Amino acid sequence: MPLSGRIALVTGASRGIGAATAIELARRGAHVVITARTQGGLEAVDDAVRGFGGQATLLPLDLRDGAALDSLGPSLFDRFRRLDILVSNAGVLGTLTPTPHITPRDWEEAVAVNLSAAWRLIRSCGPLLQVAEAGRAVFLTSRIARQPTAYWGTYGATKAGLEQLALAWADEVTSTKLRVNLFDPGPVATAMRRAAFPGEDQTPLPRPESVAREIADLCGAEETRHGERVRFSGAPVPA
Ligand code: NAP
Repeated sequence: MPLSGRIALVTGASRGIGAATAIELARRGAHVVITARTQGGLEAVDDAVRGFGGQATLLPLDLRDGAALDSLGPSLFDRFRRLDILVSNAGVLGTLTPTPHITPRDWEEAVAVNLSAAWRLIRSCGPLLQVAEAGRAVFLTSRIARQPTAYWGTYGATKAGLEQLALAWADEVTSTKLRVNLFDPGPVATAMRRAAFPGEDQTPLPRPESVAREIADLCGAEETRHGERVRFSGAPVPA
């Protein structure tokens, strides 16, 4: 149980990659604090975790609620006295549309969930991660952040902003025990992928469980090598 005794916060844990990652971290011994809006999805993850004797705490919240995120770090400290792992996974696709057609509603939701929530989590939970024995933060990104693509402007802009933010933080903590990674899972068979590519046969795509293992590897204490702040489906890219 390599993560025994660790507390891990996973956002977007009601389905897809976040749910699978929470289950994988719990399987490795972490007590997982799982967040999303959909209570039923969180309960399904909780059932799976309890099924193998793991521990989960359910925290239903909307990542657009900045005040809730601000109080998250202090609440985790009150309850657990620590936070070892943050997997900032929640994301929204927005509507794939020509750039002049992006609506304020879509834009504001994507900026709030994909970018601002990550900043607020860093602000709220960063101090706890920084004093942990082997603090680990992983942010889910996409190659679209580095490959501007027609109709993907909202998603791409928010993920590009996220990469800048996470890498700036990674640069700031290089000399500490905290490791900050970006992780691009590549195409994965999830609801988001289905929304982006309706009608695609998802059978050949990797399942969330397989990328969850890679994400959990980034959360292990052995992952302490400098310069490996950015990972793209497991292949390190020089900083
Ligand atoms: P998904 O199945 O759509 O799951 C998204 C998660 O984010 C859900 O748990 C959802 O929970 C949560 N979420 C969305 N809006 C939220 C809000 N306002 N407040 C709280 N939670 C919210 O997506 P996925 O495919 O697993 O994607 C996970 C991450 O991987 C994302 O950051 C995505 O950009 C990235 N990614 C995915 C792929 C892919 O092919 N799947 C490729 C590259 C990158 P609720 O709806 O219950 O709140």
